[in-house]
Amino acid sequence: MTDIKELLLSRIRDVADYPAPGVVFKDITPLLADPAAFTALTDTLAELALEHGATKIVGLEARGFILGAPVAVRAGVGFIPVRKAGKLPGATLSQAYDLEYGSAEIEVHAEDLSAADRVMVIDDVLATGGTAEASLRLIRRAGAQVAGVCVLMELGFLGGRARLEPALEGAPLEALLQV
Ligand code: AMP
Repeated sequence: MTDIKELLLSRIRDVADYPAPGVVFKDITPLLADPAAFTALTDTLAELALEHGATKIVGLEARGFILGAPVAVRAGVGFIPVRKAGKLPGATLSQAYDLEYGSAEIEVHAEDLSAADRVMVIDDVLATGGTAEASLRLIRRAGAQVAGVCVLMELGFLGGRARLEPALEGAPLEALLQV
């Protein structure tokens, strides 16, 4: 696992002052372009999802789609996109949440989740935890269970873990890398 973590970390590029001054953006495109690293990541996340009993993967727009879809295929479970508001064509459940400045809204197709599902949420980066927290609310409102949240990288200094904890209700938050 240590080797895998070193490989993954070496393929994430820090981009200073993007998309705004003072932000260090964690760019995963070098990792996606490296088949050994991308496969190692996909396999590790799929193992975690199955370990925690997931029967569905929710990917958070947009990089959660890139990671979550191959994880779902690898784990042999369905993939459900959680999208920014206004992008899904069918009947949706919506969840608004606060950002540092302003607010945002995410949606899921209501028919995609039911009480029979145990859902693992996947994204690239956990920052403030607002997006992941809102996704857990959507999953619970749909009547499904939460298997946990898996991210490639947790930005610990932003306190996302603490924000997410109540919504996790004891389910695990797995971060392969912590900074
Ligand atoms: P948050 O809701 O604050 O946890 O933000 C999480 C979402 O924003 C994730 O979908 C990430 O892809 C993205 N994000 C936030 N901060 C960063 C960062 N420093 N580098 C890359 N992505 C980020």
